[in-house]
Amino acid sequence: MDFDALFNAQLDQLKADGNYRYFAELERQCGKFPRAANHAADGAVRDVTVWCSNDYLGMGQHPAVIGAMCEAVQRTGTGSGGTRNISGTNHDHLLLERELADLHGKQSALLFTSGYVSNWAALSTLGSRLENCVILSDAGNHASMIEGIRHSRAQKVIWKHNDYHDLEMKLRALPADVPKIVAFESVYSMDGDIAPIRQIVEVCEKYGAMTYLDEVHAVGMYGPRGGGVSEREGLADRITLIEGTLGKAYGVVGGYITGSAALCDFIRSFASGFIFTTALPPAIAAAARASIAYLKESQMERARQRRQVARLRAALDRAGIPHMLNDSHIVPVLIKDPVKTRMLADYLMREWDIYVQPINYPTVPKGTERLRFTPSPLHSDEDIDHLVTALRVLWKQCALAHAVA
Ligand code: PLP
Repeated sequence: MDFDALFNAQLDQLKADGNYRYFAELERQCGKFPRAANHAADGAVRDVTVWCSNDYLGMGQHPAVIGAMCEAVQRTGTGSGGTRNISGTNHDHLLLERELADLHGKQSALLFTSGYVSNWAALSTLGSRLENCVILSDAGNHASMIEGIRHSRAQKVIWKHNDYHDLEMKLRALPADVPKIVAFESVYSMDGDIAPIRQIVEVCEKYGAMTYLDEVHAVGMYGPRGGGVSEREGLADRITLIEGTLGKAYGVVGGYITGSAALCDFIRSFASGFIFTTALPPAIAAAARASIAYLKESQMERARQRRQVARLRAALDRAGIPHMLNDSHIVPVLIKDPVKTRMLADYLMREWDIYVQPINYPTVPKGTERLRFTPSPLHSDEDIDHLVTALRVLWKQCALAHAVA
């Protein structure tokens, strides 16, 4: 059988739909963020400004984080040496778990190799091991939660995105004595909207449901110590499980859950996604801990990010470029067509040295394709002016093309 022909048939379809993903070959350069070298297909190498990084605060190049990682590599070497169970648990992992528990004001924390794995492992374990469990999932939840819930084979109920009235209706319809888990996010990464956490928590408390909150796009950036939106709103202690990543605002890699000692011990003891994989290198744990500790104290990065987000939004408004309104750091500009989104992104890269990855299906629903900008504290006012000038020129050209057609 010609397997490559089977693969190519599906890839050709993806290309025809405009949903094929082309990767930019970037080379991050320490100390120059948000600048990176772009290795183009023709071999040319040019500096570009990255406008879509999830290294939201530039902590991936922060001296405190780099220093901690280098120190730990010299002290412990590269890998961890095994799964957490078999010789892989290092002192640095436990220090990081204590730091994370403290960040969210919980008894315990548990590390995973990524945020994806933490959601997948925690939800699949909870849903499969709690008898008759029902998981109520926000319609906008990330793929990692959806996959975890699917793998658990627990009954799944989807509630309308951010609609706590719909959630209440669905909770009310369930028997009182079955365990219920309500899974949702604080900041939704593609639209940048923020969940009404207080109302959701109140509904969950009324029906005795466990709350499972993904703060992946909020940790490090919201709350006085970077504990996420739940910290900012004084709600962390009312949430059963807070999940996060070390790969976005903290600038390293890895994922985690925090909660009661019993909850974390339960996941540690039963989750295959925790048990059967090599632990993160201790140097990664040390770097992540340095990043968290730094952002618990420093307000500078959060304040400067908020300033640059507001500045970009105001400049877009002045230029007449529509963008989705939300209360977060994410600035989506809807294009609503995968081919056009790709063309705009290619043009920005080629003509203006601006890198913004087109966001298409399945990351967002078809017809809502977009450019998604994430201003960081390290984007200068000139970077913002340059981006908005480029977009203004593009918009004018598109309007002209429209008028001619
Ligand atoms: N949860 C949400 C809401 C996400 O958007 C992502 C990734 O983008 C993840 C979890 C996975 O986190 P990680 O990138 O650390 O695997």
